[in-house]
Amino acid sequence: MQKLRKNLFSLDYSKVENISFLVKKVIAPNPSPFTLHGTGTFIIGKEQVCVIDPGPLIESHVDNIIKAVDRNIISHILITHTHADHSPAANILKKKTGAKTYAFDSYPKGIKGSNFEEAHDKDFIPDVKLRDNEIIKGKGWTIKAIHTPGHTSNHLCFSLEEEKILFTGDHVMGWATTVVVPPDGNMDDYISSLKKLLKNNFKLYFPTHGSPIKNPEKYVRGLIAHRKMREVQILDELKKNSLSINQMIPKFYSTTDKRLWPAASMSLLATLISLEKKRKIVSEKNHLKDNEKTWKYNTLY
Ligand SMILES: [Zn+2]
Repeated sequence: MQKLRKNLFSLDYSKVENISFLVKKVIAPNPSPFTLHGTGTFIIGKEQVCVIDPGPLIESHVDNIIKAVDRNIISHILITHTHADHSPAANILKKKTGAKTYAFDSYPKGIKGSNFEEAHDKDFIPDVKLRDNEIIKGKGWTIKAIHTPGHTSNHLCFSLEEEKILFTGDHVMGWATTVVVPPDGNMDDYISSLKKLLKNNFKLYFPTHGSPIKNPEKYVRGLIAHRKMREVQILDELKKNSLSINQMIPKFYSTTDKRLWPAASMSLLATLISLEKKRKIVSEKNHLKDNEKTWKYNTLY
């Protein structure tokens, strides 16, 4: 962690990284234990360009995006999902450029959010709602939207058809496991959305946070196996004793940075809900908070 902190301070956020023939990347100055160095904004195209995830409300970052685009025109603003480190700057960029915004949908109305740190941007409303497999075309580039619910219900990955690259947003991250926060986040959807990616033949993934993923199929299979391993671990422990999330976290995440434990408890809750739906476990003491109520192995299963 010490090394990471040093790297964060030395990062030059005005730097534009050329990552392929069609793609550039600018990182927003919002480093944290959840975003690593910050939100990676991708710029696609040469003359008429598309921007994926303009990031949090940081004016200097929007200025860096516009500088990176140079004299070319921003025609499309694409949003992977409505978390506060991805979509809020879309409206400023739209005002400055006149480009339309594209996303699966706004944050769903009527959902009682959790108090979790990775907050939702409830103000964002896309100009154009994208559906699964919808194509967006610009001069010299073609992007396909792939609906990948799980991390959030409105999450999209974007494939750049010309380069067989997939922009994975937070669905697949380059440095940590994706957080799944109920009730909008859903572990069963997340696993299905990982399997969905395996049906395509991408050669490279670019996540919003972290490094590119060069062997994506193997990486995604590893993520699915990791979640399966966690299910087995939970069931094994619950066969011995009923436990609350507060009791499970130190057992399962003893080697994880403690600042990530609140995130880990959210994903753990998502896994417990999934196991309860499959009737493998049942919750007890439901009047208590999510972290305090206990979970029991269902011997009738
Ligand atoms: Zn997110």
